[in-house]
Amino acid sequence: MGSVSFAADTKRFIEVEAFDKYDRTELADLGMSIEAFYSDSVWGFVNEKELKEIRKAGFRIFGNFNPATARGGHDKVFGFPQGDERFHDYKEIGDALSVLEKDNSDILKIHSIGKTHENRDMYAIHINTSADAMKRKKSNKPGFVIFGNHHAREHLSAEIPLMFAQYLMANRKDSTIKNLLETRDIWIIPMVNPDGVEHDLTGNKYKMWRKNRRDNKDGTFGVDLNRNYGFHWNEGGSSSNTDSDVYMGKDPFSEPETQAIRKFISERENIKVLLSVHTFSELILYPWSYSYDPIKNEKDQKTFDAMAKTMAKWNKYTPQQSSDLYIASGETCDWAYGEYGIFAFTFELSPRDMWDGGFYPGAKVIDGVFEANLRPMLYLLDLADDPYRALEKKRSHDAQSFLKNTFYL
Ligand SMILES: [Zn+2]
Repeated sequence: MGSVSFAADTKRFIEVEAFDKYDRTELADLGMSIEAFYSDSVWGFVNEKELKEIRKAGFRIFGNFNPATARGGHDKVFGFPQGDERFHDYKEIGDALSVLEKDNSDILKIHSIGKTHENRDMYAIHINTSADAMKRKKSNKPGFVIFGNHHAREHLSAEIPLMFAQYLMANRKDSTIKNLLETRDIWIIPMVNPDGVEHDLTGNKYKMWRKNRRDNKDGTFGVDLNRNYGFHWNEGGSSSNTDSDVYMGKDPFSEPETQAIRKFISERENIKVLLSVHTFSELILYPWSYSYDPIKNEKDQKTFDAMAKTMAKWNKYTPQQSSDLYIASGETCDWAYGEYGIFAFTFELSPRDMWDGGFYPGAKVIDGVFEANLRPMLYLLDLADDPYRALEKKRSHDAQSFLKNTFYL
């Protein structure tokens, strides 16, 4: 038997009455991590204290369950359990990256952009056809970066970025892909939170773990990395309670993982487009997340909107401003756009619903989710040279129209 953390045991999985983004934000402010939402209710995790606060604030609790309810059928086994072996744990992702590098060493290199609390590497795949750029780990070509697995239990969010790298390499001779590889600087960091991932896989069942593994020195562990970025940090939708699933951390960028990402982005002005992959709900989200206000710069706002709607045609997800769901501050995309003007999107992958598997939909969904998101990812990569092209009806040169014909329609 593996040990089960104290914090996990005190969690409850609840359904609460909530009609709109304002209700949802109030619940997030009270420390609830909202995992699924409907027209009249939301589902998510709270601890006992937060549950009391939510009741006190006047919300009706429709359901109050053991957190294991949210684990789907995966209740018995371990590594990745039977049927889910195709998912990569930390060691397996390292092995997969080594294979990619060995087979494509002329244009693909594996780096570590930083170390976690438990001294694991944050692996980064760098793809660039210029030997000089590979050596310097920097490039003047337009850059695109993908982050996966900020949240530990969202295992599918590491698979899709990894598969995108594998797809690009498997198709590197194809003229369209070749053109993209030659004209772009590509970074893929499939597992931002390996400590959390490994913790989720320790013991005899999935732990439903979300945060990293900081020892908060009060019997609780973990900071929500996607509430720890230093842009409008602590402005709603996050908690100062260390036990909360949306604990923002002591300070902005208090965590080695977010610090590593800050350093990585701040050193690469060429990066113009960013994708942060999460699960689940089938959404395409763009800033702002910390505020209900739309982006002030009208051209940028229109560009975000156009890009999200275009991608939604392919993956059939719902495109929207992030705060339409609820307010969340200290989040990756707000920071990337707010600080650096990067066109930054969050994908909440499949399933759409908690009852279709939630965080643990099983390996059977991997290929379908990748196929649905391949065009959107190629589109983001393509637009890294000038995201405002998303507003153009006609594409300017041959390569672009070729891309359009191949992937975009
Ligand atoms: Zn997430």
